[in-house]
Amino acid sequence: MIQYSISKNRLEYLIDQEKPGWLARAKDRTDGFNALGYYHESSSIWSEVKVVFTRIQHGKCAYCERQLESEEYGLIEHDLEHFRPKKKARPWSLTKTLKKAGVVLTKPASGDSDPGYHLLAYHPLNYCTACKTCNSCLKKDYFPIEGARSCNGNDPMQLASEKPLLVNPVGDFDDPPESLIAFNGLSPFACGNTNYSVRRGLVSIAFFKLDDRQRKYLFRERANIIVSMYAYLEHADAANTDAKRKVFKELATTLTKPSASHANCASSFYKLYKQNRNEADKVFHLAVSYLKTISA
Ligand SMILES: [Zn+2]
Repeated sequence: MIQYSISKNRLEYLIDQEKPGWLARAKDRTDGFNALGYYHESSSIWSEVKVVFTRIQHGKCAYCERQLESEEYGLIEHDLEHFRPKKKARPWSLTKTLKKAGVVLTKPASGDSDPGYHLLAYHPLNYCTACKTCNSCLKKDYFPIEGARSCNGNDPMQLASEKPLLVNPVGDFDDPPESLIAFNGLSPFACGNTNYSVRRGLVSIAFFKLDDRQRKYLFRERANIIVSMYAYLEHADAANTDAKRKVFKELATTLTKPSASHANCASSFYKLYKQNRNEADKVFHLAVSYLKTISA
């Protein structure tokens, strides 16, 4: 997971360019939900601006960083995801490991679930796009927090007091996911520098099964990226001309750019290669054996 940094003004500008008048229609709907006190409508209009988010995210899933199909043919693969759920917020069950790590979730104020964030159903800063596995199978209508839930909140930038345990990858107001999650080879780990940010990293990894080897295609893609980067960096080192060295270095850094799939994993490996060549060699060999194992 990485941050796709964008200001609210820029996001609204892009939405207006893509779908003139959408923001005003969205506001009307929000005003309606505000009058009702809950989310209720028979047909939604957020899909009309989905493509804005697929572009901001370079066609990648906001959570697992997989590259999905391009907008010309593949918008069906991308779900427009509400970071804070609009209808209800169901309690998520902690894993044993998370309990052991001291994570404690806020329980619903009453009943089985909290109400959803009806005033954020049409807030652009509450949107991202995600693959169907991350959105429909894993995210659903969960939104684990450890503070007090503010279901009537109308501005995602003012809701940090909820102490959310997931991180919003789109925008410029939440912690960058890279400050909470880094990679040790193929596996993500929580790298935050406060107890809360470590808990956010741990929950985000567990929630989206980012370290679950049953998501084997994630691991295979990460392994291929590490092997490619290692090869590029080794070629850069061994190059006999500056021009060749430059080409291979550029190829390696391309893998760390926000537009590249699994850029967080690639950036962690790039850093490791620069800092500790022996450890980088080990990670490279582990990635190679992983690829051999899964293709056997
Ligand atoms: Zn995903």
